[in-house]
Amino acid sequence: MQLLTADANLVLFSVSVLLIATLSYILFIQSLPVQPQASQRIALRYFSGFFVVGFIAFVLFCLRYFDWYVTSVVSANFAYLCSIYLFYFGIRARYQQPMHRRFLVWPLLHLFILALLMLYFSLVENELYIRLPIFLASMCLPLLLSFSTIRQFELPSNLGDRILKFSVLLALLTLPTLYPLFSFIIQPDHSSQVLVTTLVSLTLETLCVGGLAISYIYDLIDKLRHDAHTDKLTGAKNRRYFFRFAPPLLQQMHLEKKPVCLVMIDIDHFKQINDQYGHQMGDLVLQHFAGIIIQQLKSADLFARYGGEEFALLLPACPISGAVQRINQLQSQLQSQPLQHKSASAEAEQQTLNIAITASFGVTQIEPGVDLDQAFKQADAALYQAKLAGRNRLEIG
Ligand code: GH3
Ligand code: MG
Ligand code: MG
Repeated sequence: MQLLTADANLVLFSVSVLLIATLSYILFIQSLPVQPQASQRIALRYFSGFFVVGFIAFVLFCLRYFDWYVTSVVSANFAYLCSIYLFYFGIRARYQQPMHRRFLVWPLLHLFILALLMLYFSLVENELYIRLPIFLASMCLPLLLSFSTIRQFELPSNLGDRILKFSVLLALLTLPTLYPLFSFIIQPDHSSQVLVTTLVSLTLETLCVGGLAISYIYDLIDKLRHDAHTDKLTGAKNRRYFFRFAPPLLQQMHLEKKPVCLVMIDIDHFKQINDQYGHQMGDLVLQHFAGIIIQQLKSADLFARYGGEEFALLLPACPISGAVQRINQLQSQLQSQPLQHKSASAEAEQQTLNIAITASFGVTQIEPGVDLDQAFKQADAALYQAKLAGRNRLEIG
């Protein structure tokens, strides 16, 4: 085996460094917390594939210093493009974008054309100055696609998504600078290219790993935050959320001198529903009831399951007359949408149960200087009055 212009030690050193980096990145990536969606696990597999194939591409690239020139040029370029497409597929899976079989035709065609061009410009005409721009432009295509996918679907709150976008952008900016560097500054196919390629690969891959890690960890944080603030049964916010966000909202309304109302809501005779139809049906009633209210909410409203079959609703920038109007609307929605439940009877015929749901409402306008606890006492007293007065009605406290 004859060494062309490269220092064998440098090549071996670079391969070893990239091997260690690749293995640790894959271990790291595979240990990231994954959300239950299958696509998130698939995305991590693609990203691992990106690192593995990227490493293989580097080894193939180094082969040119050991008498395997044409093989090295064709296979390394092919493998590098493969790895970037794997990265793009990972990004698509990460943002839950579908990938139909038809979709794979274009990357395969792209890879095939690149391999043919590399073969021609290394075997027939050995032209680095033509080969290099073709390869660099080729790499830019899946990178551009990845960049636009991240831009389109990133969550503004997810710092990792931004780091990932930044590393793809950096890769896009780095590629054009490699052309003059490899063609004119460093002697073509000189061993320094090994060093530059190692450094560029390491930097970009490290940034990618960092971005991926942070973006997956942010996903987990978002999920935990969502779970901590959401009532599992109804999907409404929970009491903890309400008491975290209601006080600042109340303060803001008072500062802006805007009216704000608190509504306590309690389903009527809910225990009877449980007793008559069973606890499971009771749960369905709670879901149905909360769903109807959630549909009617405005973006600034704060609605939460307060406990059991009781709910709290804070209406910012809403005077008592507005609150009464909103509750009347809710009552008519409840009346027009009873819970319809299909159940198979003993004769295997479908029976539809119609369970009418009514609720009682206690409303109070929270005056400046009145805190949330006092407001709850007032709304609760009004709710109690509504129950006493026969239910399915509202009282103002
Ligand atoms: P009222 O009209 O006076 O409000 O009568 P009520 O029967 O609605 O009120 P009560 O407080 O007597 O009963 C509430 C019932 O709600 C008691 C409890 O078993 C039931 N409950 C609380 N949480 C849940 C739940 O998550 N699922 C189901 N199915 N029932 C629940
Ligand atoms: Mg109750
Ligand atoms: Mg009740």
